[in-house]
Amino acid sequence: MVSAGVGPGIELISRAAMAEGPEDSTIGLPLPRAQEVAASSRWLVAMRWLAGGGVVVATWVVHRTLLPRFDPDLMYAVGVVILASNVVFWGWQGRLRRGGVGPVWGYRRLTHLQLGLDWAAMVVLIHLTGGVESPLVFLFVFHIVVASLVFERWIACAYTVSAVGLTAGLTLAETWGLVGHRHVIGFLPGEVYAEPAYEVVILAALALVSAVTWAVTSSVAVRVRRREDQLATLYGVVRAINSTLELPQVLDRLVRATVEAMGVQGASIGLLDTTGAQVELAASHGLSEAYLNKGPVLVSQSPAHQKALIGGVPAIIQNEGDRARLQYPAAAEAENIRSMLFVPLRGKGQALGVVRAYSSREEAFGPDDVKFLEAIAAQGAIAIENAMAYQAMCKMDEQKSKFTRTVTHELRAPVSGAQTLVSLIIDGYAGPLEEKQAGFLLRLRRRLETLQMLIDDLLSLAAGRTGLAAEEVTEVPVGEVMAKVVAQVEPQAQGKRQTLEFEREAEPLAVEATVQGLGRVFSNLLGNAVKYTPEGGRVAVSVRRVDHQAVVRVADSGIGIPAQSLPRLFTEFFRAPNAMAVETGTGLGLVIVKELVERFRGRVVVESQEGVGSTFTVFLPLVGH
Ligand code: ADP
Repeated sequence: MVSAGVGPGIELISRAAMAEGPEDSTIGLPLPRAQEVAASSRWLVAMRWLAGGGVVVATWVVHRTLLPRFDPDLMYAVGVVILASNVVFWGWQGRLRRGGVGPVWGYRRLTHLQLGLDWAAMVVLIHLTGGVESPLVFLFVFHIVVASLVFERWIACAYTVSAVGLTAGLTLAETWGLVGHRHVIGFLPGEVYAEPAYEVVILAALALVSAVTWAVTSSVAVRVRRREDQLATLYGVVRAINSTLELPQVLDRLVRATVEAMGVQGASIGLLDTTGAQVELAASHGLSEAYLNKGPVLVSQSPAHQKALIGGVPAIIQNEGDRARLQYPAAAEAENIRSMLFVPLRGKGQALGVVRAYSSREEAFGPDDVKFLEAIAAQGAIAIENAMAYQAMCKMDEQKSKFTRTVTHELRAPVSGAQTLVSLIIDGYAGPLEEKQAGFLLRLRRRLETLQMLIDDLLSLAAGRTGLAAEEVTEVPVGEVMAKVVAQVEPQAQGKRQTLEFEREAEPLAVEATVQGLGRVFSNLLGNAVKYTPEGGRVAVSVRRVDHQAVVRVADSGIGIPAQSLPRLFTEFFRAPNAMAVETGTGLGLVIVKELVERFRGRVVVESQEGVGSTFTVFLPLVGH
């Protein structure tokens, strides 16, 4: 095995030098973008003002000073035609621009037309200035540069061939007398334009200059476009990673981005298993089922994986000799994979896995590709670590909820048993009680009720969080559920001589929820309103439709919530000081309300002023919205 260093920290498993330069295959070549074509078209128009003016001025100068026998009238005419046509192009462009950069085909058509007319003007100018003798033949180079920058390689190539072809055609036409030759450059022998050797030399030089200009410019343009594509892809990947913690989604996005931006056949991400001996497939794109199922990838059997995972540096398989060292060379052969690039996914402490790119060409990967894949891998590592941390957090939260659930469940039976027994004693079943004893027992019963409330709230919170709330979401009529809850709390409100108002929309409003869940939301809110409103106060409940939402409002004229307590209102066990002073409670009711409302795709908001009252509003999307 021969290793070669390419930049800091990068080693290759390859006997061949790495391929520099852009890919020749047209597959995956980035296409010119709308802005690029639009800008070049505008630039062409700007340059043509100079060109048209230049033809007129140069003709005047050359005629006056160097070549008095040269007939300037037709040249002036060509200059004027160039300027006149440019007025049309300029107007056309203005119209396109007003429509935004949008219609790329509009700019493409305009650019084709401009280049076509320029080609015609060039042929006429060359003819007027001496045909093959004219130094203007080499001005085609400027247009070839523009065509190569603006269009795909093959279209630019067609323009290049046509430039040489048109000049050759003009030369032949003049040689054969189809078109009269204009002998302008006095110091050249009169018949040189028809001299085959002279013609061949000039045309060959033109062909060579044109071909080199096309090749260099178009390959630079392709490289620049690819770079832009890769940057845009990376940006997209970073955004995708920030927008989700779902690992499979992010990894899928990464492999797709790799295939698109690198123009390769396929890509995959393999993660090390817990033993560190085997690489397991986590995401792939562009690879067949047969290849993916080729068998377990063992680090010990694959030098490329070893290099990436243990060495921590990128590894490249570039040719047949390299492929022989793969764990599954036949599978790669069958999949038509000729080059592979492996880049490690580096976690904080250790290697997490590898990102792999596969190409059907030999020597397909250069230093740019290595850098790009490393950037993708860096993002992948962040995504994996974020997702792993998130999963661990969810697991812990679930464990915590399960624990709470079990404990509270176990507490429920003895507490309710104790409540029954205390009630029996208070009711005199165990004999008459002294006043003092009855007073203590009544306090004990209230404490037990509070404990029961806490257990119920904890249970319902834990059930929701562990996904054990069995009831399925269905279409639930909001007004009816609220009517039942209002009826349930009515005696309590009456006991406190409160006015309880209830208004509801005549039409039935259905939302996607569970009957039990929605009932719990409403009874918590209404229960609080009655609880935290002093005797003789007012509680108003309404269920309305606003656009595509059911809006449930529970307003009271109670103690209100202090401004500094509002931000902490929906957090576990939080109770405002003014509430603690007047009533018992758990500080869990609103947490349950919020979790349930969010589960039903809604939201809950609170407005309150201490000493004036509170309004809780629940917004729930109506069925089908
Ligand atoms: P609990 O009522 O058991 O204390 P909740 O979670 O239902 O727990 O409410 C949390 C806190 O929000 C209450 O302790 C109280 O400070 C405040 N609160 C909720 N509803 C009202 C209301 N209608 N009026 C005044 N304060 C309220």
